[in-house]
Amino acid sequence: GEQILEVKNLHVSFKTYAGKSHAVRGVDFHLNKGEILAIVGESGCGKTVTSKAILGLLPKENTTIGGSENSEILFGGEDLLKKSEKEMASIRGSKISMIFQDPMTSLNPTMKIGDQIMESILLHNNISKEEAHKRAIEMLELVKIPNATERMKQYPFEFSGGMRQRAMIAIALACKPEVLIADEPTTALDVTIQAQIMDLIQELQKELNMAVILVTHDLGVVASVADRIQVMYAGKVVERGTVDEIFYKSTHPYSRALLKSVPKITNIHKETLYSLKGTPPDLINPPKGCSFAPRCEYGMMICREQYPRTEVLSETQESSCWLHHPKADKSGLPKNMIQ
Ligand code: SF4
Repeated sequence: GEQILEVKNLHVSFKTYAGKSHAVRGVDFHLNKGEILAIVGESGCGKTVTSKAILGLLPKENTTIGGSENSEILFGGEDLLKKSEKEMASIRGSKISMIFQDPMTSLNPTMKIGDQIMESILLHNNISKEEAHKRAIEMLELVKIPNATERMKQYPFEFSGGMRQRAMIAIALACKPEVLIADEPTTALDVTIQAQIMDLIQELQKELNMAVILVTHDLGVVASVADRIQVMYAGKVVERGTVDEIFYKSTHPYSRALLKSVPKITNIHKETLYSLKGTPPDLINPPKGCSFAPRCEYGMMICREQYPRTEVLSETQESSCWLHHPKADKSGLPKNMIQ
């Protein structure tokens, strides 16, 4: 597919009282036009920091993007990291839009839903109030909120959690963005509503031909909607592939551990459901070898010494793990783990 966004060698660090924390450590990826890319990992893996970097939403104070590395975020051939705050503000919400976990924190509680959608439309388009009003109703209908005209006059507290998330999506899509970044869009919702919102995102993605980056800790929610999955750990991408490659042919111990903690697909690997033990490493002093080594059941001596090379397994799958080395002992590994 044709690329719409490309992140190159992204490095982000934050100054903390204990020292510099390297939240994102050399992340590379691209997003194709009209695809859904899921970025998956535990909290603190750098997935949200990466999406905030794309949106220009990282706090200026105490944050270094790039630093001594040459980091780029290319959108339409231009580097978003070189844009001014004013330029980013006009891109955000029009060309690249976002929805977050908790609509209550992003919706204005004192403003009617309709006015909030209209405000977003009027901010980026030179149209009359009447036209914006009409388009706001269309947006509410698009996200399947019944009685849209009546709902326009209501306040966020009069909406249920699922309806609020739909209203957020309406605001985010009001300017027909080319890229939508959805960060844990369903985490605060119950399971049935989660599935409905995911289906809605997928439907709208097709209808509006947007590209979507879905950021989540939960591999389960992206299984049916994503085209590709990128797994992050401790500020790096450790594996990526199509949904089938990650779910059925994952070769990385961390991705496999994440998969094992997804209830629905446990039978695929014939392993019992478990939750991942241990915690991700401290990114103030990142380990010099593989960051997953302290928690990895397959860890070898070399894993703690040197970061593994990225092995290209197919046109779409890549994995960074020492188990791919020709000399690694593969005798104890499950069959579908080594290709
Ligand atoms: Fe485990 Fe070693 Fe692979 Fe890291 S490189 S995931 S420690 S086997």
